[in-house]
Order: sequence, then structure tokens, then C-alpha cells
Amino acid sequence: MKLLFDGYNEEEFEAGTVFCVGRNYVEHAQEMGHEVPQDPIIFVKPANALRHGSYNLIEYPPLTKELHFEGELILLLRGGGRNVKAYTPADVIAGYAIGLDLTMRDLQTEAKRKGLPWTISKGFDGAAQVSHFIPFESAPPFEELAFSLWVNDELRQRASTNQMIFSPEMLLPYISNIFSVRAGDLLFTGTPKGVGALHVEDKIVMQLHTSNPDEVLLDFHAQVTEWQ
Ligand code: MG
Repeated sequence: MKLLFDGYNEEEFEAGTVFCVGRNYVEHAQEMGHEVPQDPIIFVKPANALRHGSYNLIEYPPLTKELHFEGELILLLRGGGRNVKAYTPADVIAGYAIGLDLTMRDLQTEAKRKGLPWTISKGFDGAAQVSHFIPFESAPPFEELAFSLWVNDELRQRASTNQMIFSPEMLLPYISNIFSVRAGDLLFTGTPKGVGALHVEDKIVMQLHTSNPDEVLLDFHAQVTEWQ
């Protein structure tokens, strides 16, 4: 899948591995009843999970009765291979998007209880919703980014990057010690507090912005529909 930018971008990227960080905001770890992790919790989503655009449909999977939204800031990576040590944002990050780490919460809770993988609860078709990208060069510094998420016009999540437990500077060396990082790989950076259930017909709006929510950098819209 070719990744799309809002505005002109010199380079082209094919979507690669979708890396995700779990529990990267203190208050979300607490709302899920977990301790704040010592090391990053990393999982991946398969390619079939990816949906990419400005106006996306979310098909409600028949296997769950508790489909949760997790609004997240997403990094597009330039690559770097294995053992990325010296972290320079411009060398590592090609762009930013916003999107949803959709989760079948009931199945994930059962998987956690039984010590089973999260592949089904977080890897089903459409589980990785990704907006268009803003090029790194056009974006404010990472430290100034923030995002908001509304469900049916009600503000449900708002957070800024300075609330993250693990910054990209910590995450990239950690991930690249385990997985080779390639151009086009995506990194979902975790969700802040406020996750909740979705229902068919719900409308989601997300905005990437600066610390001032009126300085909007990107928009993303999605609507929940029946599973086809
Ligand atoms: Mg998440």
C-alpha cells in the first residue's frame, strides 16, 4: 500500500511493518488496571489490518461485543535497520499521522488472562486505521505535537507527546535491537486515557494539532459500519 501525504512530499513510501506500543501513557495504563511498564510493550499488526485515508470506514467485527477505539499518534519511519543508536529525528521520522489502534477489548482481556497472543484482538481486518501523513519537514517538532479524538462530536481523548512514557528516542533503539526497521514501517505510539466502546453508526473525528488545539495539522474521519 502506497502511503499518502497531505501536500507534496518528495519521497514515496510503501507501508511496511505496523509496530505498536502498549501502555505508553500513565493514565491509560491506570484506567486499564495495569502498572506503568519498565520496558516498552511492543506488538505488531499484520498488513491486512491497515486502512489508510482521510475518510475511513470501520467494519464492526462479528467476533466482539466490545470494539474499543484507541486514538494514537503514528510515526512513519525512514528505516535505519538494526541497532539504531544515535537518534536524530530527521534521519528516522519521515512523517506523522493520526489513527486508531482498534481493539476487540473482550477478546484481548481474555487473551491477557489466558496468556495468549493479541493477534486476533488487535490484528483483524481494519484494526489499524491510519490518516494521511504530514511530512516531517512540514511538521512542528515532535515535542509540540498533540491530538484530539471525538466520537459523535464528544471529545473523548486529548493528549500531547510530552505525556508519553517512552519517547521515539527511547523506542527506536529498543525496537531496532529486535526488529530491523525499514522505510515505510509505521509506529503507533500508544493511546492516552479515555478509550471506549464503539457502535455501528458512530462517527469519529481526530485532529493532529500543536499544543494549541486550534492549530490543526491533520484531520481524520471514520464511521463505524456493519461487517461486510
Ligand atoms: Mg494502542
